[in-house]
Amino acid sequence: MPALAVRFRDRLPVSDSTPLVSLGEGGTPLVHAPRLSEGLGLDLWFKVEGANPTGSFKDRGMAIAVARALEAGARTVVCASTGNTAASAAAYAARAGLRAVVLVPAAGVAAPKLFQAVTAGARLLEIRGSFDEALDAAQELAGDDEFVLVNSLNPDRIEGQKTAAFEIIEELGAAPDVLALPYGGGGNTCAYARGFDESGELPRLVAGEASDRAVTAASAIRIARPAHQADAEAAIARSGGTIVSLSDDEIRAAWRLLAESEGIVAELSSAAGLAALIQEAGGSGLRAVCVLTGHGLKDPVISTGVVAVQVDPDPDAIREAAR
Ligand SMILES: *Cc1c(COP(=O)(O)O)cnc(C)c1O
Repeated sequence: MPALAVRFRDRLPVSDSTPLVSLGEGGTPLVHAPRLSEGLGLDLWFKVEGANPTGSFKDRGMAIAVARALEAGARTVVCASTGNTAASAAAYAARAGLRAVVLVPAAGVAAPKLFQAVTAGARLLEIRGSFDEALDAAQELAGDDEFVLVNSLNPDRIEGQKTAAFEIIEELGAAPDVLALPYGGGGNTCAYARGFDESGELPRLVAGEASDRAVTAASAIRIARPAHQADAEAAIARSGGTIVSLSDDEIRAAWRLLAESEGIVAELSSAAGLAALIQEAGGSGLRAVCVLTGHGLKDPVISTGVVAVQVDPDPDAIREAAR
């Protein structure tokens, strides 16, 4: 499949002078969920964004933001991150031959995301403070010429991310009735709203946030002050949708239900969209697309409560143990 910047060229801020920086982002599966549709009283589809090159939707926006930074003559990109932005910035900067400086809170970022960032050659700095403080610092740094900010405050990120809405419409033939997703900083909510608006059909947006934003186990949405709050909440209201505040137990229950019912192991944070959808639209029979923002292998620290049973390589013993 051609790169996003090629497929959606006329709807993205790219021109003949913009270099192509692509790792094959976008074109992710839209998977129907027959068992959950039946169980929840919905016509439910999942947009599996964990299938992007670094395992999250951030790659859609990063491909465009890094290409534009390169076009502008940047040498170094900078971001604050709860992990996935760092992994994505590192990969796309490497691809473009740029330096990446990634700022993460010193505690609680999932190890695989740090592994991705460091392996791709980013300068990883752990900030003694929260994500919100790291973002303030990154914004200040981006005020001088040396650094280009590649957080979603960079409008090119939102532009790239809106392409997921185009893909959903292409595949379903129309926008769904409802689109559900997790709400961290709100950049992705704004991106979907823009993509659907530009296509002339905005579904009801149902956004799941952690009720205790600052300390949730869902580390990708552990953001106390959403940078896009005003725009995201305006878009949700305009769509006739809503924001659902969720306990960690509710997010975990949706995460497990998704994995056990459909075989899709997503990031814990991704399940906030499903948990919100169940509360808001369960039983409605509506067509719903739920965005699974990140791959489950990115945040495998959650105890599954599974204890492996050891058994001899003997068919009778295995038959017995498999009961
Ligand atoms: C970044 C991220 C989010 C939150 O997206 P926002 O644009 O900050 O609302 C949710 N889930 C995952 C896996 C993420 O990486």
